[in-house]
Order: sequence, then C-alpha cells, then structure tokens
Amino acid sequence: MNPESRYRRFQRPEALFTLFAPLVALPGVGDKLAGLLKKKIGSHVVDLLRHLPVGVIDRTKRPAIPNIEHGALVTLEVLVTKHDKPPRQSRRPWRVFAENETGQIEIIFFRTKGDYVEKLLPLGQKRIISGRAEWFQHKVQIAHPDHVVAPEKAGQLPMYEPVYPLTAGLTPKMIQKAMQGGLERVPALPEWIDPSLLARFQWPTWDQAMQKVHRPERAHDLMPGSPERARLAYDELLANQMALAIVRHLSTREQGRVFAGDGQLRRQLIEHLPFTLTGAQDRVIREILTDQHQSDRMLRLVQGDVGAGKTLVALMAMLNVMETGAQSALLAPTEILARQHFASISAMLEPLGIKPGLLLGKMKAAEKRETLAGMANGGLPIVIGTHALLSDGVEFHDLGLAVVDEQHRFGVRQRLILGEKGQGVDVLVMTATPIPRTLAMTAYGDLMSSQIDEKPPGRKPITTTSLPIDRADDVIARLKTVLAEGKQAYWICPLVDESDVLDVQAAEERFTMLKAALPHANPQLVHGRMDAETRDAAMEDFRSGEAKLLVATTVVEVGVDVPQASIMIIEHAERFGLAQMHQLRGRVGRGHDASSCLLLYKAPLSETATARLNIMKDSNDGFRIAEEDLKLRGPGEVLGRRQSGDPEFTLADLAYHGDLLELARDQVHRILEENPTLEGTEGERIKLLLALFERDRAVTYLAGG
Ligand code: ADP
Ligand code: MG
Repeated sequence: MNPESRYRRFQRPEALFTLFAPLVALPGVGDKLAGLLKKKIGSHVVDLLRHLPVGVIDRTKRPAIPNIEHGALVTLEVLVTKHDKPPRQSRRPWRVFAENETGQIEIIFFRTKGDYVEKLLPLGQKRIISGRAEWFQHKVQIAHPDHVVAPEKAGQLPMYEPVYPLTAGLTPKMIQKAMQGGLERVPALPEWIDPSLLARFQWPTWDQAMQKVHRPERAHDLMPGSPERARLAYDELLANQMALAIVRHLSTREQGRVFAGDGQLRRQLIEHLPFTLTGAQDRVIREILTDQHQSDRMLRLVQGDVGAGKTLVALMAMLNVMETGAQSALLAPTEILARQHFASISAMLEPLGIKPGLLLGKMKAAEKRETLAGMANGGLPIVIGTHALLSDGVEFHDLGLAVVDEQHRFGVRQRLILGEKGQGVDVLVMTATPIPRTLAMTAYGDLMSSQIDEKPPGRKPITTTSLPIDRADDVIARLKTVLAEGKQAYWICPLVDESDVLDVQAAEERFTMLKAALPHANPQLVHGRMDAETRDAAMEDFRSGEAKLLVATTVVEVGVDVPQASIMIIEHAERFGLAQMHQLRGRVGRGHDASSCLLLYKAPLSETATARLNIMKDSNDGFRIAEEDLKLRGPGEVLGRRQSGDPEFTLADLAYHGDLLELARDQVHRILEENPTLEGTEGERIKLLLALFERDRAVTYLAGG
C-alpha cells in the first residue's frame, strides 16, 4: 500500500488557522511582496514569523548635538527651521536645517521627488528623527533619516528595531511591516513543553517567545541561548523528535521478524574472500545480527568512512536473511552506484552460486521484467537498485531486509515506502558521510548506530596539498609524467552551479583540454547527463587501466571503487563542501600505492574556503571533518538538504542547541511511554505542535493506520 494515501487525511487544527494564512492576508503585503517572500521565506504567516532577526538597532540614544559621535545612530527631537530646496533638474541635495536646545543639524535628501521633504519635515514644526549622523565640515548631518515622526506620534518610533537577514528585493521596511502584521496574529497556544523544563530554563510561553524574538533590545537577545530563542528551538526539536518517533514506533505496528539463519552462506562467503574481515567489520556484523535475532524491527545506522568496507557488512546481513528464505533489497542513490554494488556483490557471491538482481529506472524492458518476476516469485534473494525499487507495482515475494546505502540522500519517506513493501522489514542504513550524533538524531530519531571505525589494513595515508588554479599547466605537466609511469588519476571538474548543464559544460571543456594535453593517458569523461552505456564504457576503460585519467563531475562522489587509482585532483576545490571533498578524496587511497589529493583553487579564497582547505590538508578523519563541516556550514547542508527531504531547522541551531535535542528526545520518550497514541489534552497539544511544524505525516499516522 502506498503510504501517501494515508497522509491526505490530515486536517490542520483551527487554532493554527491564522498562522497558516497566506502572507497576502497581512496588511502591507501585496501579491508582489508575497511572491518575493514566498521565494525566500515561505508562503504562510508562520514562515515569516520564523524568519528571525540577526541584529538590533538601538534608537534609544538621544545625545546632545555637539556630543554626537561621527557615524553614530541617534534619535533627536528637532524644530525644522529652514528648507534649502534645490531648483528643478538640479543635482544638489535638498537640505533641511533644524535645531534643538543643544545645537543645529542638517538633514540631507538626495534625488527627491516633488514636495515629499516639505511634507515630511514641515517648516516651523517639531519632528523626531532617527538615523545615522555624520560630522561634515564641522556640522552634524543626517542623510535620509530612517524615521521621521511627529512628537505626538513618538510611540510609532521603534526604540529597538530588529534587523532581518536581507534578501534581494526586500527592504527592511517591507519585512518589518509584514512582520508587524504577522505578530498581531500570533495566537496564544496551549503549552506542550514539560512544565519542569519551562521552570528550569525560565522559558516564556510560545506566543510570548514569538513576540520577544522579534523585539530584541540588546545583542544578547539575539543569542541562541536567550530564553525565547531557546524555547522556540526546543519546540522545533521536540516536533522533529516526536515525528520521527511516531513514524518509527507507531507505523511499525506489526511485529518485526526474527532472522536467524544457519550461517551456512555467510561462512562460504568469508571463506572465499581474498582478505579477512577487519575487527570493526566483525563487530558491526555482530551488532546487526543481534538486531536481526530480535523480534523488534531493526533500524540501524552503519557509519563508516569511505573505503571502510560497508558493502561487505551489508552483504553479510543480507545473507543471513537469505538463509532464512527471505529477500533483501539494497537501495543506492545513483545508477552508477547501484551498478557498482551490483558488480562487486555479484563477484563476491559468484563462488556461492548466487546471482543478485539489478533494478534501475532505465533498463531493457526484458531485463526489467525478469528482475521484477524474480522479486515477485522469490527467485531473486538479493536485489540491488535505485529509486526504481520504490515504485508502485514493484513487489517482493517476501522482503525481510532493506539496506539503504548513502542514506543522506534519501528521506524518511523513502524508508517508509520500502518498509511497506514487506512484513516487518528490517532497515539498515549505510552512510559514508559521518554524521555527528546530534545530526543523526534529527535525521533518524533515536536509532541504533554502529561504527566501522577501522580501515582495511595496508591502506596508505593520502597526502593532500593545494595549489592556485593558475598553476594548472604545471600540474598537467607533472601529471603527464606520473601517468606515463602507469599511475591513474581522477580529475574532478568544478561545481559551477546547481544546474547539471553548466557542470557538464565545464567538464567537457576541461576534458577536451586534457585530451589534447595528455593524449597518451587516453582520458575518459563521465558525467551525470550521459547515457548509461557511454558512462559504463568510460568507467570500464578506467577500471581496466586502459584509460589513465578519468575526468568527471561529482557523479564519482559516492562509492566508485577503482583501487589502483591513486591521484585525485579537485578543480575549484573552493566551491566544494568539506564532506563532499572528503568523499571525493576517498576514491583514492584504496590500493597499494601511496595516494595524493590535489586541491586546485581559485584565489583569492574566502575565509571559510581557506578553513575548509586547511582542514582537508590536516585531516583524513571523516568524523573530524564532519564536525568541522557542521560548524562551518550548518546542518542542512551537511545532511545534503536539497536531496534529502530530511529536517532542516529554522529555529534550532544544532551547533548550539545540541543539549536541547537530548532533552526533547527524553520528553518524547516519556510521552510515548505513558501515552503512546497521544490521547487526551496532552495528546492534543503534541499534535498541535506537530501541525505547527507541519509534521503532518506523523499526525496522520496517528489518525490513520
Ligand atoms: P565503503 O565503506 O566505502 O562502501 P567498500 O565496501 O566499497 O567501502 O569497500 C572498499 C574496498 O575495500 C573494496 O574494494 C572492498 O573489497 C575492500 N575491502 C572491504 N573489506 C575489506 C577488508 N576487510 N580487507 C581488505 N579489503 C577490504
Ligand atoms: Mg560504499
């Protein structure tokens, strides 16, 4: 059954209607502004409210005019004494003279239209003005004050003005106006946070917190640790943990199954391996086996740096399932990777006389039919594939285990769909991108995890260096020598843009150039827009050593395994994130040769890019790199936000709120233990929270099912 069908039953609680009103409903927000906001922020009032200030302007300073510091932001009540209006067509500014008991100032306007300034600052009247003041030829000037109000309307002048992250096309005034309207619609909501936590941290209620975050008075109020920000962050984390827990526990109503094979196939596999398992592989295999022996459904994350040997670990789990007569599926994020898993698993299973199946979106109809038939009648014990495995109409005779490789590219939903394709399906998630614990919790909930924290022996460390790209000619000359000696290299082409098209273009240009410069190396090109056959042929030439150089876009990022390649060149390394560079680098250092990685960058480097390249040069440790990545880039991108559909936080900042995440998980445990189906007042409140964060799927899981 397609789980999507359950999701539609969700109905948003009435208490949240105002928050989920479209932004155009707010005063001062027309279609155009709403359109801009939608692109940058979201389309509902609540999205706007989650757009938090990054600064605060203090307008409380009212110095005597002679004491004003150059460049200071001041607020002054002055009497307008004279207008010096420029003649029409003149480019002179319009100058207004004003004074108070402490001195005189000039207020300057450039390029004014009509009598706007006269209306704003009527001659002979008092006005409160606020803006940045500067000393110019011994006089204080304020050009284009931020605010001008009549004294009787002093209340309209914000004493503290929030500064929002600016997005193109949006002025501060536009956002502030819209926000004002949004804040007027903040309803009081019942409390969902444990009273003990509220008391412990002195957190305000939800609506108070929402009001307060938008009315900061000091830099201190902007800190993630301020009570109102921390509270809102906790809300978000609580919703996240609750949704994951519900999806995990309540959706798996049917019992898991016990998979306890006789070990026959696994023994055979091990006997035929040309190497022995590492200690870490052995341990993780046992951890998985323990889960498989239990009647609870398994959800285990296996983290292992690139090259740690995860495939074999997964295969052992699949063989255990096969020993009991059930089937396994391995879901890979890309076609290249699926094919590669298929090739290496086929090779490992060959001595056992087992043939796995391969299912891709694009494949010959006859092959596809055969695979589908084998899956449906149970003839295929192990199937490897892409998203195609998730399609409607893809059925298994008896699916017992789903292995999801490189999970950070899939979302929770895909896991659910796979889970629905069998009875009590165990799920094993394999990731090469080491995920810090806090992040793993937000992406998967409180799942079990195993670390393959040891590499197969004999791996040589990779030496990483960097060079500015204008030295490319030297690099190519050097490459010519080492490729002639028989070494093999990857040349990764720049990430130009989000769009594949430009990446491909850049790769093709570089390829043409390298082919001309290094004809003897027989360079091959692979990129994401190629048809599979051409790409496979190119990969095969490289794998067999016929081609010494592989020019590629990031399609080789995950999983490509050509052990004898020992040189990795990453062009425009400054455009890559740490995790991605580490993945790419992991393509080398797999064989017997000492390997090297060269990061070609375009100068000048930004501070972050410098930091990233330095970390790469310093460390080969995926976990350390992931932690640094989290610090430099934030969680969304570490998880691969765009592809993942996994949580992306707007209010919580995991670098600061990691502790709150643990507390949120504890509250979730407590609630689900006492009240697993979320009944009563407490249940209603939690459902409201889930709806507030649009974790609708979790809510419908409760309602439906
Ligand atoms: P990853 O964890 O990156 O998916 P793979 O499973 O692709 O790693 O394994 C990387 C390479 O290491 C493969 O060529 C595999 O055959 C080899 N390998 C796996 N386990 C061992 C081991 N215990 N000893 C030696 N080589 C191993
Ligand atoms: Mg792998």
